[in-house]
Amino acid sequence: MAYWDILLYPHPLLREKSTDIEEFTPELGQLIDDMFDTMFAAQGLGLAAPQIGKNIKLVVLDAGAEMKRGSELMELINPRIVYKSPETVILEEGCLSFPGIYANVERSAEIKVEAMDRHGKPFTIEADSFLAVALQHEIDHLSGILFIDHLGRVKQSMIKRKMKKITRGHKLLKREVRRRRA
Ligand code: ZN
Repeated sequence: MAYWDILLYPHPLLREKSTDIEEFTPELGQLIDDMFDTMFAAQGLGLAAPQIGKNIKLVVLDAGAEMKRGSELMELINPRIVYKSPETVILEEGCLSFPGIYANVERSAEIKVEAMDRHGKPFTIEADSFLAVALQHEIDHLSGILFIDHLGRVKQSMIKRKMKKITRGHKLLKREVRRRRA
């Protein structure tokens, strides 16, 4: 079991484009398990590999978060959004790379995603409401897109100022994740 440091905005790796995963090794399975542990320890609902400094197309998600934590864990490798509804929904979002910052973001209300599991087996998800939003947020990370990019200029600069204060003590723009006692 290992915990990764979570990169904080404006760490440059958060803006890189991620590459496809082509090898489905035991090490990949271990990395996925470590990402789940890191996400839980940081009390997040989703984590994308770029947030731990790995620019590869990998996302983990706690889809049952609204009702019961840990009830529906999802891992997505090389995810692609193949359908986005024109109808939108506005939900409040946060991000582990922006601790304590939340903002309303408008996104497609329904989407369809194709991805693979840790063994390379393809699957399709149709999602709406919370899950659709969470998937769009996490998949955006793989293109170097952050939730603040969906906000207006004023709101963006407010968040950038807040992040400057938050990251003052973090010279490397990393937040150390430690296991918490249950
Ligand atoms: Zn995020």
